[in-house]
Amino acid sequence: MEWEKDAEKELGKIPEHVRKMAKMGIETAVEKKGKNCVTLDDVTEAMVRFGGLMQEDETDKKTTKIAIVRCETVSEACPGVGCFKAFNKRKVKFSEYGPDTEIIGYFTCGGCPGRRVYRLVDSLQKHGVDVIHLSSCMLMDTGYPKCPHIDGIRQMIAKKGVKVVEGTHH
Ligand code: SF4
Repeated sequence: MEWEKDAEKELGKIPEHVRKMAKMGIETAVEKKGKNCVTLDDVTEAMVRFGGLMQEDETDKKTTKIAIVRCETVSEACPGVGCFKAFNKRKVKFSEYGPDTEIIGYFTCGGCPGRRVYRLVDSLQKHGVDVIHLSSCMLMDTGYPKCPHIDGIRQMIAKKGVKVVEGTHH
């Protein structure tokens, strides 16, 4: 599918985290019209139809977005209920957050030494993550040993400019 220059420019105004999805939607609509080139009118038409989804709304900007990284090994035995209970009730390490706070990501480190944290933090940053919690299972010495790679993981996240909080429900 080809794109006219001004159509591409307009596409660039759509927030990055929904742009790929918007591009696919626009191309599908253009294909249905029997065309093989996207014009500015096609993009404008899509923005009118799906405007709410494609524009960054003010509420979204005010929301504090958090994510939790946890231990891959522990995740085999733990469904994460403790983390979510603490968040939902704003307890322990989540007690400072107000109602305008959302968990936007909950992921495992990918196994020692935390091999997928780097990539997933990149991805979360595209969605505006503000804070990443290191789950309590990475920090405690009960049942499973404390994560030996915790310092490297913490520093790597902080270097990317995302605030790190140690712990979730303990
Ligand atoms: S890097 Fe740490 S958190 Fe990840 S699997 Fe190894 S011990 Fe668990």
